[in-house]
Amino acid sequence: MITGVNHIGIAVKDLNNSISVFSKILGTDKYHTETVAEQKVNVASFNIGGVLIELTAPTSEDSPIAKFIEKKGEGIHHIGFESDNVKDELVRLKNDGLQLIDNEPRFGAHEMLIAFLHPKSTNSVLTEICQHK
Ligand code: ZN
Repeated sequence: MITGVNHIGIAVKDLNNSISVFSKILGTDKYHTETVAEQKVNVASFNIGGVLIELTAPTSEDSPIAKFIEKKGEGIHHIGFESDNVKDELVRLKNDGLQLIDNEPRFGAHEMLIAFLHPKSTNSVLTEICQHK
């Protein structure tokens, strides 16, 4: 079952610059940073009313985020919907005709299990399903 919006991922070139921009927008300088080696990104997350705004900057030119920025520029990258069981969710979504990028959940930021749906089948919105471990 989808239980809410967990986070909104935003692709940025310069993490420190974006932290400063979003600190102003959100009126807080409280955020959490981490490196997700598997995705070759640094992430800064602001928790606003339980929804994370995840600023994501590439650490390498072959990072998926670097490729996204090259193609589309900076901006909203994906929406992460929280589920209580991402594995069951993937079966449900596949049966409903949606195209999966990840057939099996993998580990993402914040120690969550994550899986992406293909934007071709989701109105071009890169969509992630995630679950706390
Ligand atoms: Zn995400």
